[in-house]
Amino acid sequence: MTIAQPLGMHHVTAIATDPQRNVDFYREVLGLRLVKQTVNYDAPDTYHLYYGDEAGHPGTILTFFPWPNAPRGRRGTGQATTTAFSVPEGSLGYWQQRLRARGVEIIEQATRESDDVLALADPDGLRLELVAHPGDRRAGWPDGPVPVEHAVRGLFGVVLTEGAMEGTDAMLRERLGFQVVEEAPGRTRYGVGDAAPGRVVDVVADPRGQQGLTAAGTVHHIAWRAPDRDIQRAWREALVEAGVTVTPIIDRQYFESIYFREPGGVLLEIATDPPGFTRDEPLLELGRRLRLPPWLEPRREAIEALLPPLKLGELGDDAGDSPAGETDSTQ
Ligand code: ZN
Repeated sequence: MTIAQPLGMHHVTAIATDPQRNVDFYREVLGLRLVKQTVNYDAPDTYHLYYGDEAGHPGTILTFFPWPNAPRGRRGTGQATTTAFSVPEGSLGYWQQRLRARGVEIIEQATRESDDVLALADPDGLRLELVAHPGDRRAGWPDGPVPVEHAVRGLFGVVLTEGAMEGTDAMLRERLGFQVVEEAPGRTRYGVGDAAPGRVVDVVADPRGQQGLTAAGTVHHIAWRAPDRDIQRAWREALVEAGVTVTPIIDRQYFESIYFREPGGVLLEIATDPPGFTRDEPLLELGRRLRLPPWLEPRREAIEALLPPLKLGELGDDAGDSPAGETDSTQ
């Protein structure tokens, strides 16, 4: 039997608190483009913010539900505990300086397998990594505040922390078409296709670890790419046949989605590549104003009244990272 295989990661969705602080960090510090301002379709009094490269290509997307009053979550088993972005080889010096200049604490520096890694936390405590990996051919966002030679290329992968490996391992290999590409003590890397950045997931075993609590500063779910609806539908049928509980196909406007849990508890999604973020606004204008799906448009006024207004600050060029510019930027 051939197993459908994702093209790679589609997006990661996490929980934040203050939407303005979230926007400022991901746009101005990490230099991602805000490619969509919309609402959580299941709770339209909350934003759903999407960040990515210029067009928000699948595999570059990190999204947030900012719930201003969400309690702080706890990283632990049954969760995606790290979201890693790919940056060009040789860029970590630049990033160290950039983060330091903006008061972002670097919580770990490591060399893992052959990759250099910087770990940091976003303002809500979400653990992020920047992984310098040679040969990521994705373009990054050429018009962002980070010079394109250092800009984030897209997602590198995620780390799943699991109390037990067996069920997760079986789902990744037997239902999702992953292969083991690297093994280190307590940590296994799985990949699809060429296992390039954006096509890997690491599973860390933590048999005595506490279960994670999904709230602010933690990942809500991770999504893998299906090239189109037909493949997604076939994949759904195969999962159902294998006894996995899967949602119906849900219209998310910019992609269509199915959701299910892996045996360790992490919520997974399979999302289609089309139609993408230019479905309801042109490329040049992505993310500038609130977009609602047709079924919520009649309630726009009420929804806008409930959402805190967002200010998109000017994205300066990167002069702020020269030593003189750093002084300027703190004034
Ligand atoms: Zn999702």
